[in-house]
Amino acid sequence: MKVYVTRKIPEAGINKLKEAGHEVDINPEDRVLSKEELISALKQKEYDAVLCLLTDAIDKEVFEAAPRAKIFANYAVGYDNIDLSAAKEHGKIITNTPGVLTETVAEHTFALMISIARRIAEADKFTREGKYKGWSPMLLLGTDLSKKTLGVIGFGKIGSAVAFHGVKGFGMRVIYYDIKRDENFEHEYDAVFKETVEEVLKEADFVSIHVPLLDSTRHLINEERLKMMKPSAYLINTSRGPVVDEQALVEVLKNKKIKGAALDVFENEPKLAEGLAELDNVILTPHIASATEETRSKMSEMAAENIIAALSGETPPNLVI
Ligand code: NAD
Repeated sequence: MKVYVTRKIPEAGINKLKEAGHEVDINPEDRVLSKEELISALKQKEYDAVLCLLTDAIDKEVFEAAPRAKIFANYAVGYDNIDLSAAKEHGKIITNTPGVLTETVAEHTFALMISIARRIAEADKFTREGKYKGWSPMLLLGTDLSKKTLGVIGFGKIGSAVAFHGVKGFGMRVIYYDIKRDENFEHEYDAVFKETVEEVLKEADFVSIHVPLLDSTRHLINEERLKMMKPSAYLINTSRGPVVDEQALVEVLKNKKIKGAALDVFENEPKLAEGLAELDNVILTPHIASATEETRSKMSEMAAENIIAALSGETPPNLVI
């Protein structure tokens, strides 16, 4: 059958699709297709499946452009780029790639947490610029992670992996907020569940966000809540940009209401909120939390397995709807 892949991804999954006997067409340009381009690409042939990315807005019009496509397999664990009610209306199967990227994203979260607390980007720039004139007792003083309170917002696969590394790696105390409790984790690692997001924000030294983007989580971290954080606290976001009011965050950082922030995701990607890039007390990475060779390859295979299952009439292993 015919599969359309909206952008070049690691070969592993493409090979799997081909080995399963499917014909694969890949967007030849290494860039996001505009909505019009995607629609026109999908109309070129009668595609049976689409492998899409979080940068593709998949909605009613896209589904209409691929009437035969049974499945849209997202190459991501988040699927806020897909209009699920339109998918239901058009009878499309939607899948994602959960689990395989959990540890990779948790590691990146710590890379960001350590980098902002220990001023790694500032220190790197300082050293390269030839400003280092010898060891100095007051040079670039940062903050320890060890024994601090880690506040996790969204305690699913990634949030709980971050909490685990916080406890095991740095002896951190974990507090968390989620719409559901994880009592096993609480018992095993002395983590404390908080009834509200505010309680976490008021108490944590490091706040790390791991909720999906939903109507209920858009601007979950707004100006009022940012101001509840301790002036010594750091905010880390590797979930989705719109969960944080980015312009409010810029103001809070400018006015030193919190110590710093480390962001992998942005509200209007790839644009940054005005003033964000000028701040010293932020670390910014371009949505690369899952970007390791190992993980991207596994994600590619997983998306392919979902397609292969759906096209052979089976329930795909990672069904969203
Ligand atoms: P998950 O489904 O295992 O966990 C999400 C958790 O959020 C669940 O425990 C859920 O109960 C909780 N939640 C949902 N709505 C909530 C609300 N309103 N308030 C509080 N908690 C709420 O997902 P995961 O695998 O841990 O991934 C989490 C998110 O991380 C993804 O949805 C994705 O957007 C993001 N992500 C980003 C990157 C990146 O590259 N930066 C990579 C992977 C995942």
